[in-house]
Amino acid sequence: MSDTHAGDTAVRNITHFIGGKIQPGTSGRTGDVFNPATGKVQARVALASKAEVAAAVAAARAAFPAWADTPALKRARILFNFKALLDKHAEELAELITREHGKVLSDARGEVTRGIEVVEFACAAPQLLKGQYTEQIGGGIDNWSMRQPLGVTAGITPFNFPMMVPCWMFPIALACGNTFVLKPSERDPSCSIRLAELLKEAGLPDGVFNVVHGDKEAVDALLDHPDVAGISFVGSTPIAEYIYTQGAARGKRVQALGGAKNHLVVMPDADLDQAVDALIGAGYGSAGERCMAISVAVAVGHIADDLVNRLAPRVRALTVKNGMERDAEMGPLVTGAHKSKVEGYIDAGIGEGATLVVDGRGQRVAGHEQGFFLGGTLFDHVKPDMKIYREEIFGPVLSVVRVPDFASAVDLINRHEYGNGVSCFTSDGGVARAFARQIQVGMVGINVPIPVPMAWHSFGGWKRSLFGDHNTYGEEGVRFYTRYKSVMQRWPDSIAKGAEFTMPVAK
Ligand code: NAD
Repeated sequence: MSDTHAGDTAVRNITHFIGGKIQPGTSGRTGDVFNPATGKVQARVALASKAEVAAAVAAARAAFPAWADTPALKRARILFNFKALLDKHAEELAELITREHGKVLSDARGEVTRGIEVVEFACAAPQLLKGQYTEQIGGGIDNWSMRQPLGVTAGITPFNFPMMVPCWMFPIALACGNTFVLKPSERDPSCSIRLAELLKEAGLPDGVFNVVHGDKEAVDALLDHPDVAGISFVGSTPIAEYIYTQGAARGKRVQALGGAKNHLVVMPDADLDQAVDALIGAGYGSAGERCMAISVAVAVGHIADDLVNRLAPRVRALTVKNGMERDAEMGPLVTGAHKSKVEGYIDAGIGEGATLVVDGRGQRVAGHEQGFFLGGTLFDHVKPDMKIYREEIFGPVLSVVRVPDFASAVDLINRHEYGNGVSCFTSDGGVARAFARQIQVGMVGINVPIPVPMAWHSFGGWKRSLFGDHNTYGEEGVRFYTRYKSVMQRWPDSIAKGAEFTMPVAK
């Protein structure tokens, strides 16, 4: 990163990181990076051309043979160094996230921690890559299997977790012996460059990890490049589907995680205080800009009025402030354009006849009048055919849908096109068990509002929330970033004379 001055205001230039070095952009195109709390442009990010992407892929390709040949234990030791550096710089990373994304600092710290946990998992590379061996599958013949890296892999990531989501990908890709090109979100790109610098400081050879900033042009260049063997994507569903279909058509391995509409079912036997706490945190934390945010509360049976009456004052009382302030509960949205889009959904909800219980529009934050703030918003009597129910809003808007019983709640959720996360609040073990078994969603919480799997499990939704066959991180991540190979071996003293024309079987 380097600083330039535009008039009186220092505006940073955010550039690429290729072959172990900061590389200025050459395309002549840049994108604005805002400080969402002030509404001001604080940096300009270079947007890569096809040639710049090709340079990053070439660096990754050149670094691949030596890195793939490096013993897994040595690769893991570099990741151990990296993990120590992440711990040391955790606060700095969290501040970078808050300044560009807007989420409150305590939440950004949590994001950094969840990213570090995947690095910790990847430090087990020698164990994770250990193959399987069977001696004497036939007379004098042994068979073993091993997993080998794909080659150059790429990650394309969304704005809402500028550290954690890249960390779902590259630590495991690198542990497995791949090299990596990261194309982070152009809205909050600084964190990725800091990660690249820390990887270098940890001892990672140049070219093993590269960052190119950009938009569709850079993404298409990665999709088109014949040397990119695998692509991990996290972002909205239309783009996830595009990446999956285009990447697969070009013979690449692709995992593409998309959008979400996550429900939290409140059963009549649930502890309502706990359910309300869960809905407030999971609905409005990070201003609803989480793929695991709860955006629909499904009120089952007679508790609906009580639930809404308890939620409303809590939504009104949310402390909306610059995320850097200690007592902030909710920061601004990421950009003015995104704020307008979310406001458009509120208009649509009113237009379609949902009951607006709390209206977050017009939220003012003293001293930050130009910031992209929107207050918490609550709708009641939302129906399944309404746009605010069908589509992902990705803002601080919670919809309450009323259903008569458990079966209707399950049916409602199973009919939704998304299936990322879901939660059920109940004190009945039988209901909980039935819910976990019947629900067609990839990540289920029982009395847990945001059930993001730990680093050694794996993350991924069902239906149109994930395209591809592998979830991200955990052992699924190891499978995604490796190819399986089976080797069968015998030595001349065990080979019988003469050609065999029958299908070989164990003898
Ligand atoms: P997005 O789809 O707009 O962008 C994601 C990435 O795709 C970015 O790097 C962006 O530069 C690139 N991109 C955008 N438009 C493109 C185009 N037309 N062609 C090619 N590339 C393009 O998503 P976002 O707004 O950054 O992030 C929010 C979305 O991400 C939400 O839908 C959220 O649910 C989803 N998300 C999903 C998960 C998950 O695990 N399923 C996690 C985090 C975020």
